[in-house]
Amino acid sequence: MLIKETENIEVYLYEIEIENTGHITNTYVLKDKKTNKIAVIDPAFDGNKIKDKIKGVGELECVIITHSHADHIAGLADLIKGTNVKVYIHSLDKEGLWNTIFNEEQVVGTKVKGIDDDRVCTVEDEVEIKVGDTSLLVMHTPGHTQGSMVLFNEKENILFAGDTIFKNSYGRTDLITSNNELMGISLDRIFNKFQNISVYPGHGQMFELEDSKRRIKMLYAFNG
Ligand SMILES: [Zn+2]
Ligand SMILES: [Zn+2]
Repeated sequence: MLIKETENIEVYLYEIEIENTGHITNTYVLKDKKTNKIAVIDPAFDGNKIKDKIKGVGELECVIITHSHADHIAGLADLIKGTNVKVYIHSLDKEGLWNTIFNEEQVVGTKVKGIDDDRVCTVEDEVEIKVGDTSLLVMHTPGHTQGSMVLFNEKENILFAGDTIFKNSYGRTDLITSNNELMGISLDRIFNKFQNISVYPGHGQMFELEDSKRRIKMLYAFNG
């Protein structure tokens, strides 16, 4: 479903149920209109179905993983099979592409198929990922996982946030590579850096950051 269109980009959202768990993850497609290149952000489940959905959208250039939980990568292997697209992930979350403890396969209730190591391109804080002529700035935001990242497009003022922030809440910090203290630092960093941006989270509705800041801060203070 097309959810945003500007002169330069299109953003598509696919709300995908992970197998038959009832658990829904947001898979996004970002398209650079000038070059017709697209990136899939978090191929949640069934890579073959995602492949079908993006057929008419544009040419797949890369896949970007906000963090390596099973509900964000279960569609990855089938999606990239037979292509040579790159897979971007933060270095600290790379292991979760194969390690079933790190990717919480059991909690999520789906199996993750591994991919070849040479397809993976690790990124760090402040690195820029190019999708055609559109760039996404990586911001490392550990907390939910040790290598969680959010992706900022300055021109359109949008942020793909994975499971770091949601509308009026933030990601769980009780999982295997979570760290609640680092989550607090990451939330502060996001709140200080960004004003008036639209956020596309890994679950639930998109939202305006300003509308959620106070609630998220309160919730963190209360839980932390
Ligand atoms: Zn997660
Ligand atoms: Zn998730």
